[in-house]
Amino acid sequence: MNDVNLNPETQTDVSKLEVLISRQQLQERIRELGQTISADYKNKELDLVGVLKGGFIFLADLVRELEIPCRIHFLQASSYQDRKTSSGVVRLSHDLQLSGKHVMVVEDIYDTGLTLQRVFEDLQSQSPASLEICTLLSKKIEGKVPLDVKYTGFEIENRFVIGYGLDYAERYREIPDIVCMD
Ligand code: 5GP
Repeated sequence: MNDVNLNPETQTDVSKLEVLISRQQLQERIRELGQTISADYKNKELDLVGVLKGGFIFLADLVRELEIPCRIHFLQASSYQDRKTSSGVVRLSHDLQLSGKHVMVVEDIYDTGLTLQRVFEDLQSQSPASLEICTLLSKKIEGKVPLDVKYTGFEIENRFVIGYGLDYAERYREIPDIVCMD
């Protein structure tokens, strides 16, 4: 990945950074995703598993666009810590019981895919009735872990993005748009 312009130790003025996806574009696309998912799961109940922390705003907005009954869960996945390159080790923390349920993982970014692969395999081992992945962003990069991602919000170039739940060193999650840091 490219270098970061911002100091991880201090909150920086981000108003001059490039907006990659505006709050309006996010709202419109998430509405479409909600409609598609509601149609696909008609007459079913869906157990959504948000991947913390980056996916928390996406999940909160997505569920308000669903027209089907659902239950909301979270798991914690960590690999990046305060750095911009993945350590390759993904730690999971949860106490979910999803046997026999229709489950959807809700993630912020499909980058290398290591996180989603780890989450998917972990949840698959619980024998859900079905298991799908919904990611807000998917980066166009070489050598991703191949995954069957059923729902994708936006495909983006290989840029480091913050905002709308995504952080850099735990900052900038509150920015309403998705903004490029590099
Ligand atoms: P993967 O395991 O697919 O390489 O990485 C997934 C995780 O890395 C995401 O859930 C996210 O936390 C982090 N990540 C990957 N790319 C970015 C990015 O551009 N910005 C931010 N803030 N986090 C990213």
